[in-house]
Amino acid sequence: MSLAGQLYKLQQVDLELQRKQQELKEVEDQLGDDKDLVATEYKLASQKEQLEDARKKQKSSEWELEDLQEKVRRIDSKLYSGTTKDSKELVNLEKEGKSLKSQIRPKEDALLGLMSQVEEMEEKVKTTAVEIERLKREWEQGQETLGQRKGEFETVLAKLSEDRNKLGQQIDSEVLNTYERLRLTRGQAVVKVERGKCQGCHITVPTSQWQKAKAGDLIQCTSCSKILYLE
Ligand SMILES: [Zn+2]
Repeated sequence: MSLAGQLYKLQQVDLELQRKQQELKEVEDQLGDDKDLVATEYKLASQKEQLEDARKKQKSSEWELEDLQEKVRRIDSKLYSGTTKDSKELVNLEKEGKSLKSQIRPKEDALLGLMSQVEEMEEKVKTTAVEIERLKREWEQGQETLGQRKGEFETVLAKLSEDRNKLGQQIDSEVLNTYERLRLTRGQAVVKVERGKCQGCHITVPTSQWQKAKAGDLIQCTSCSKILYLE
């Protein structure tokens, strides 16, 4: 195989290495990524707070209502027990009782509203808790699959690196330096010549140049500096 051919092969291995390294990195990024789960746990915590808040409001509404009912009971017993004889006081008591009684219904309605809010929040908390369980299961399964893929990539990468080293050892170190420098600065170091054109920059390669390249000389494109390879 010509030197350019060896370099071309090396480049293919290097490109494959790069791709696999990128894929491995993606797998590694996904490993341990539990954003959805964390976000849902936050959601649950906030819903629980809201539930607690709604329960407190319900409790205080119940107390207010009981308080009101107690007041009404006391007035009624004063009114009907016959202990109060004073007619002016009786009139006042009756007025007060009426006023208090008129507040009971709105308070009961408000309490019902709060109770249904509590029920709604309880339902939400339950749904989110179920969702968290599902996400946890999915996450664990996902981690297992990703762990396997990571292992597979590592095996492939080890094999590729070995191939790469073997290929590299067969090539003169100065040529290898040129190759590395070109890869670094141009992305690609070796390009094919097809139908007389450099596939790196699509400029027609002078006949003398590609003939030399075909004969096995290491020729760089005069336009893009990449190493020319003819099969
Ligand atoms: Zn070129």
